[in-house]
Amino acid sequence: MPAKRGADVLSHTQHTSYDVVIVGGGACGLAVAWRARARGLSVCLLDRGALGAATSAVAAGMLAPVSEADAGEPALVALGLESARRWPAFAGELEDVTGMPVGYRACGTLVVARDRDEAEALERELALRDRLGLETRRLLPSEARAVEPALAPTLRLALEVPSDHAVDPRALCSALATAAERAGAALHPGVEVARVIIADARVSGVELPGGERIACAQVVVAAGPWSGALEGIPTAARVPVRPVKGQSLRLRDPSGPGLLERVIRFEGGYLVPRGDGRYVLGATVEERGFDTAVTALGLWELLRDAQELVPGVLELEVEELPVGLRPGTPDNAPALGRSTVVEGLLWATGHHRNGILLAPLTGDLLAAELTGEAVVAPAFAPDRFAAVVA
Ligand SMILES: Cc1cc2nc3c(=O)[nH]c(=O)nc-3n(C[C@H](O)[C@H](O)[C@H](O)COP(=O)(O)OP(=O)(O)OC[C@H]3O[C@@H](n4cnc5c(N)ncnc54)[C@H](O)[C@@H]3O)c2cc1C
Repeated sequence: MPAKRGADVLSHTQHTSYDVVIVGGGACGLAVAWRARARGLSVCLLDRGALGAATSAVAAGMLAPVSEADAGEPALVALGLESARRWPAFAGELEDVTGMPVGYRACGTLVVARDRDEAEALERELALRDRLGLETRRLLPSEARAVEPALAPTLRLALEVPSDHAVDPRALCSALATAAERAGAALHPGVEVARVIIADARVSGVELPGGERIACAQVVVAAGPWSGALEGIPTAARVPVRPVKGQSLRLRDPSGPGLLERVIRFEGGYLVPRGDGRYVLGATVEERGFDTAVTALGLWELLRDAQELVPGVLELEVEELPVGLRPGTPDNAPALGRSTVVEGLLWATGHHRNGILLAPLTGDLLAAELTGEAVVAPAFAPDRFAAVVA
């Protein structure tokens, strides 16, 4: 997309000044824009590319707080569960106001083991979820194959997670952009923010590459894996965000839907059915900076592991090989809410593997913070990394 010139942006905006400028139009920035408009704030969202076309377009769309639960991260587990609880109403409201489907599927998830070691690990996962009070059920291979006949006969054990569902992130971002725009947010794809303007520890706007300025009282940084690189923010107020590479395959069954109903998760990957014969097979987890190359090794490992559990995957057609960069903070938990160092600076970033799951809650929490109504839990405070970045 050709970049818009700053003057074009300024001439198309109704305001010369906004309550909020959001940097980044992925699932998180768009959710914040929609929810902030609902609270009556004037909102301008700028994205240097197309809306929803970066990491959010690569996400598989699992809404999986129970499958992803980690005993060492109780606050993150609670955050994911709360966002999952909001998902049905969020999807329903989005579809109502836009008339656009978001592909929300209450399909449930099976976590499967292919050998004895994996089965033992799965038993431990089951025990952990029991301790945390999370609903899961142990399935014998025959029970798992009764509900998902495409699973290999060699399967050793399965864990049913009835409350972990899925959504189509691309459909989600399209609907969010439409909803935010209809609500009155000014959305500007193709416009880069060169820096945040901060003077006397207070935000006053953003500057575009040509030097044009958009004035605002508050800036929300929702720039995904690029959030840590935004210019103008003093070191003490920065959130260090690193890119975590994920390669994946988009597959299609030419004979239509039916191979799998549920999300299938396994050691090293997952298969997410869209319900229409399309599947996402993902994903590698690689610490390789901003590299987005598709590699033979990455694809081979994903296909090797998936076909051991779902042999029919090899019959599917390959539609696309997307690569994305998960936005990861040093503790892999998101940075949500207000900076205590710079007045008017807020963060909605670092969602790592769960930015689609967390989009509804991110939108609600940030909108509340922007209107001074709420304070996000300290576990997610953006300033918790001050010692790391100093
Ligand atoms: C392979 C893979 C699979 C995944 N699967 C799942 C899943 O199943 N479930 C789940 O919940 N999550 C999943 N994730 C994670 C999820 O994709 C991310 O957490 C989420 O998309 C982050 O959204 P975001 O809006 O923060 O970032 P992005 O979608 O990356 O959006 C950030 C935007 O900021 C813009 N931007 C950056 N810098 C500037 C600037 N200076 N000026 C203007 N614009 C700027 C970019 O152009 C971009 O559009 C997956 C990720 C990957 C890579």
